[in-house]
Amino acid sequence: MISASEAHCVIQSTNIPNNLYKVVDRPLFDALGLYLAEDIFAKRNQPPFNRSMMDGIAISSLSKNKIFRSESIARAGFERLTLNDVDNCIEVMTGAPVPEGCDCVIPYEEIEERDGLFELIDKDYNIVAYKFIHREGSDYKAEDLLLEKGRVINSTVISLLSSIGITSVKVLELNSIAIVSTGDELVEPGMDLKEHQIYRSNPYAIRAEILSFFPNSKVDLFHINDDEKEVLESLSHILEKYKLVIISGGVSKGKYDYIPSSLKKLSVKELFHKVKQRPGKPLWFGTGPLEQVVFGLPGNPVSSLVNTRRHIIPFLEKGLERPLSTSYRIKASETMEIGSSFTHFIPVSISVIDGAIYGRPSTGNNSGDFSKLVFSEGFIEIPSDEGRVIKDKVYDFFPWGSLEQRI
Ligand code: AMP
Ligand code: MG
Repeated sequence: MISASEAHCVIQSTNIPNNLYKVVDRPLFDALGLYLAEDIFAKRNQPPFNRSMMDGIAISSLSKNKIFRSESIARAGFERLTLNDVDNCIEVMTGAPVPEGCDCVIPYEEIEERDGLFELIDKDYNIVAYKFIHREGSDYKAEDLLLEKGRVINSTVISLLSSIGITSVKVLELNSIAIVSTGDELVEPGMDLKEHQIYRSNPYAIRAEILSFFPNSKVDLFHINDDEKEVLESLSHILEKYKLVIISGGVSKGKYDYIPSSLKKLSVKELFHKVKQRPGKPLWFGTGPLEQVVFGLPGNPVSSLVNTRRHIIPFLEKGLERPLSTSYRIKASETMEIGSSFTHFIPVSISVIDGAIYGRPSTGNNSGDFSKLVFSEGFIEIPSDEGRVIKDKVYDFFPWGSLEQRI
């Protein structure tokens, strides 16, 4: 059996299948959380003109005057005016082009108006060229690279894109993912249940975890019963169509766990089966003849979600231009014995104590108990040789969903 870090290495050294990502045009209002798939260049200087940063008067710093007669008013949204007499001023509003011949703005707070004349309140007011003027091209120049491919589109990116008049962008989206639940006991949520049946939740949980990192992903859901022929036929069809196949359940030692043997028959090469990790030991991983990548996750809801977060998300991240911050380092707030040589993934609830982020390990560490998971913000990884969580020690933390949008 291989270790969790070996499993991670095998997965990370596997190629991302062709066409797993697609580049599509999306309206900007639909692009939140997606990854930019094009470099964005400036079309003109920003600001496009010397822009007044205050409401006040625009003057020439060459003037030695302390009192200025106003020639007119420069307004935001109107063409640039010209100062005729170097000793006069033009009233100027925030956002207006600073008039030709002016190189300094004095805010209204610094002047008094009397009979159409503007007089400096402080006679020693220091007139400095370009004060309160946002100079043309000082933010960026035409043709400058503003945003690189791979950026997550958040509100600041939308602000910049909108400011240059862009209404749609090329973005990267995941394509061609199949999530396959297996098990005779599983019933579609919304249907009636018999006592011996349970609702299938894994496909929805796995899809949600993927979508929180990769919004708009095209993920199709399938279900297969524990019937050898059905498993073989369905998987065969799914493997023809999909590049990434995530199977939940049917990979353990049970009499009706047909997934590993069926994948073998379909020429999907096993790269590993079973990992020294808890939860999630029966994890199966392999590649198909058409470069399909196949994950077989143990059916326990906690195991399947932890494996998705720990192994599938970092694999998908490989296809991005810029790595996501998919894991973070945090301290444990308490010591907890776990006592085994496996790598452990321990759900934690987060709190900030004296400015440091702490994770409180959850004690319900049975992969069957998944109601407790909702009280965790993610899990920490305890290396295989440690056997316990140690208070104040720093661990890798894997938040549920992407923190990229939140930090
Ligand atoms: P398996 O890995 O198929 O042996 O399943 C292990 C446990 O997880 C069993 O108790 C299953 O009923 C449960 N299980 C498997 N798939 C799902 C699912 N999609 N939703 C909820 N529980 C599941
Ligand atoms: Mg099963």
